[in-house]
Amino acid sequence: MHLPMHLPRVEPVSVAIAGSEARFPVRRIFCVGQNYAGHVREMGGDPARPAPFFFTKPADAVVASGAMLAFPSQTADLHHEVELVIALGHGGANVAVADAPALVFGHAVGIDLTRRDLQAAAKQAGRPWDMAKGFDQSAPLGALSPGLPPACGAITLSVNGEQRQAGDLGQMIWNVAEIIAVLSTYVTLAGGDLIFTGTPAGVGPIHPGDRLHATLTGVLPLAIEFTD
Ligand code: MN
Repeated sequence: MHLPMHLPRVEPVSVAIAGSEARFPVRRIFCVGQNYAGHVREMGGDPARPAPFFFTKPADAVVASGAMLAFPSQTADLHHEVELVIALGHGGANVAVADAPALVFGHAVGIDLTRRDLQAAAKQAGRPWDMAKGFDQSAPLGALSPGLPPACGAITLSVNGEQRQAGDLGQMIWNVAEIIAVLSTYVTLAGGDLIFTGTPAGVGPIHPGDRLHATLTGVLPLAIEFTD
């Protein structure tokens, strides 16, 4: 059969690994909705350990540290959400909490960029969040550090040198093993999957020209900048 045009060339997506020439191949990106009591409260929710809920971003939403990003279209209220990100080396379905840590390849600091105005409108209308969360370059991600993250440790985000978010991994409502276990009841997880694990309080707006700097104990920082 004669095809109407050449097949497109699709570039694989990968993430840097600290201290290695190897790169981590990205398969899918899952995100936990609300996982720190302070952020649940600032979004108007009840932090009494609600069951975790999930949404996704496309794999090619990943952007590396050092990137200059175009300001996203279709929003007047772009928000930052700094998060611990887990990279899975192995997967499975219905994973027990006790078995979940063995699936983790590494961890990094990431930013779940959010078109908050579109998300609010979607919530109001009972519509999907995809265009609020899964847009181009919506998943800036630092280099992976191999192994499990610590149970406690500082996670911060500053905008133009001014600190906006400061939390601790110990404040997570659901820990890494619990998130993996619950998520694996909805989908069969696999190596290459990334999980954004929720943001601490202090989310807020980003404007054209802003510089964002995210840190997490034990991993390389993440710095991105938006064009004017
Ligand atoms: Mn988030």
